[in-house]
Amino acid sequence: IRILLTTVLDQARMNPKGIAITVQDITREAELNEAKSQFISNVSHELRTPLFNIKSFIETLHEFGDSLSPEDRQDFLDTANRETDRLTRLVNDVLDLSRLESGKQYRFEAVDLAQPIEQTLRTYQLNARDKGIELSQEVEADLPPILGNYDLLLQVFMNLVGNALKFTLSGGKVVLRAYSLSAEGSLEPPQVRVEVADTGIGIAPEDQTAIFDRFFRVENRVHTLEGTGLGLSIVRNIVEKHHSQIHLVSEVGVGTTFWFDLEPCHPDQPQKMIAVEIH
Ligand code: ADP
Repeated sequence: IRILLTTVLDQARMNPKGIAITVQDITREAELNEAKSQFISNVSHELRTPLFNIKSFIETLHEFGDSLSPEDRQDFLDTANRETDRLTRLVNDVLDLSRLESGKQYRFEAVDLAQPIEQTLRTYQLNARDKGIELSQEVEADLPPILGNYDLLLQVFMNLVGNALKFTLSGGKVVLRAYSLSAEGSLEPPQVRVEVADTGIGIAPEDQTAIFDRFFRVENRVHTLEGTGLGLSIVRNIVEKHHSQIHLVSEVGVGTTFWFDLEPCHPDQPQKMIAVEIH
């Protein structure tokens, strides 16, 4: 709690008339500050690790390069390259997240979900084939347009499908679905449900909330270098900007489905700007 004491002046601003006491509940503010400094300390730690690795590899090559076998040299260079990629992903994710939280305005307009879904599939099809995973879409014909931001929704699909492919083994399946939730007899345009379902390793019940926290990653044998632990925080943030909530159903060893609903775009309200709130 913060207590503010202010002197109240009379109209001529000459004589103090009394004292006003304001009591403010600043719990939320304190929590936000705490979350922010935690985030900065996590980011610094996460950035330092690949940087440290890259520097060590370069130093070793510099000092002992001549005495290393060509294979070892290549190995060092490959690892430094992979670490650089990881650093790039991390910086991009941190920038995405901070942009989302900056209060920037995004244009919300009619989006035909078939398009970002198609784009996501095209992006990941090769990767899926390489891993022996069947990647497909089931999009309802004549899906009504929803009110949203194309680029943000594309990022949600990319992150969810990217994860689904990362955590599904060869021979598995990943499906992106979109269908309208028409209520019988209702004259209102229906909401649209989006699902990303995989037959992957699944997520244990005790981790199902924490996976949306920044930098949280489940410790398991599929814990790859590829991830940053920020993907699902970005997804949750974007889905909330669409006045919705992300849900999941998952069973270890069976698979995971992430889903959320989107508002239909009313014909008389094809465009609007929304300010993204600061968390
Ligand atoms: P990452 O960059 O590690 O993928 P995310 O925030 O996207 O970070 O996900 C956090 C963690 O949630 C992952 O490291 C993984 O342990 C778990 N996870 C996310 N999606 C899936 C999925 N489809 N199947 C199994 N585990 C998942």
